[in-house]
Order: sequence, then C-alpha cells, then structure tokens
Amino acid sequence: MAYAEKIEDFGNNNWYLIDRKPYRCPSCNSRHIGKAILGYPTEEDFYDESLFIIGCIPDPTPVQCKFGCRECDSKFWKDTPKMRNHIKEVKEYWENQK
Ligand SMILES: [Zn+2]
Repeated sequence: MAYAEKIEDFGNNNWYLIDRKPYRCPSCNSRHIGKAILGYPTEEDFYDESLFIIGCIPDPTPVQCKFGCRECDSKFWKDTPKMRNHIKEVKEYWENQK
C-alpha cells in the first residue's frame, strides 16, 4: 500500500514523504503528478505533462524531491533515512529557536 506522510516541520508547504509515486495528490486530489526535474527545462520538457518543473532554485533539502503535483505544487520526497534525518534536524532547529 502506497503512502504519503506529510512533512509538518517545513512550515506551510505541502510536502510529503512517499514510498512510490502517488496516484493522486493528497492535497488537491489531482492525478497530475509529474516526475520532478531541476533547472531550466527544454521546450519539450516544458510541455511534457509527465514532468514537474522545479525551476532553477533547488529545494533546501539534502536530496531533491522526486515528484510534484502540477496542480497545486505539492512536492514528494522518497522516504529515505537521509530525508528522515534531515527532517529531524529541522525539527530540532525550530525547537531550539523557542
Ligand atoms: Zn495537488
């Protein structure tokens, strides 16, 4: 069973940890989930509906998101120990700010 776990510690973004490509977006229920690509897209990529264009500003995470929702910009990261650890560090950072 696929899952999407919301990452709560990055603020108001709709960011999720996933085990595989979501069938529907958990935020807006859209099926337009695209494979994420970073950087300037080629014209062909820009019109390719199977892709999600991140743009040229990388995510502030150790790895880039794998997929994105073309309707609402929700982003999806593969659930890895590296991402889990990063989330923990962000959480600890915010707790230390209190
Ligand atoms: Zn969505």
